[in-house]
Amino acid sequence: MRRTVLLSAIIVVPIAVFAAMVLADRSFGRPGRGFDYIVAVDLPRPEAGAALPKIEGPLDASRPLVVIDAGHGGKDPGAGQGDLKEKTLTLMLAEALRDALLKQGGVRVALTRGDDTYLFLEERPEIARKLGADLFISIHADSTEADNGAKGATVYTLSAKGSNQEAEKMAARENAADQVYGVRIEGRSSDVSAALIDLAQRQTQARSETFAQLVLREGRGLMPFKRTEPQSAAFVVLKSPDVPSVLFETGYINNTDDVARLTSSAGRNGFASALAQAIRVFFARTSAAA
Ligand code: ZN
Repeated sequence: MRRTVLLSAIIVVPIAVFAAMVLADRSFGRPGRGFDYIVAVDLPRPEAGAALPKIEGPLDASRPLVVIDAGHGGKDPGAGQGDLKEKTLTLMLAEALRDALLKQGGVRVALTRGDDTYLFLEERPEIARKLGADLFISIHADSTEADNGAKGATVYTLSAKGSNQEAEKMAARENAADQVYGVRIEGRSSDVSAALIDLAQRQTQARSETFAQLVLREGRGLMPFKRTEPQSAAFVVLKSPDVPSVLFETGYINNTDDVARLTSSAGRNGFASALAQAIRVFFARTSAAA
């Protein structure tokens, strides 16, 4: 009798304890454990200390540096229909502009990506900042829901509203741990940091707008524009506080005229010549003002 009780206790007690654990886990445990399903999403992370892209052109580091950003890439194709994807078009255009700049001479050039690589939006201006760029141009192609006849290029700068919000974020995140225009702001109050970053951003913003105007001026006759004035919006990619930046929508990927233009060598040359000329004038003015 005693032996039977002992034997049943050895079997029943562990089962009871296990059942109680399962019940407790289902009632009070963290979701995702026990009988729930776990959906694991593999989020790509930027490589720590990823190698910066190479700089091409003159070896003289005092020459201005243009960073050209081919929009999208890798798993992010951007806009596109059929076989033509925005990521492919932007890389072709970025390479055409790089080649035109190297041929023209006088400026150094780097591409944020030179192949079908995926980059986070924040990484793109960060590459420009780390390289010490004097100008950042992000190249894209637009798309509309329906073919409503929209075509032509548009130049964007960062909107003032987004600019101020970013200044606040920058100040909070870095909190005086970095330099803005060579002014050590370490140890200062965050208000001072925010003010310095805001000042840097306002100067950068003015330069971005100057460059956007030059693109429109130099592009006249070389490529069609949808808008004859620069537009602005809160693009993450344009949020460098200290590198003048524009986003260039080169045309509509679902417009047959734009696609024919942007995929032809004549069209790409028109785009590259317009931007190379705008860049030349921009740096001539910047160095004259310095
Ligand atoms: Zn795009």
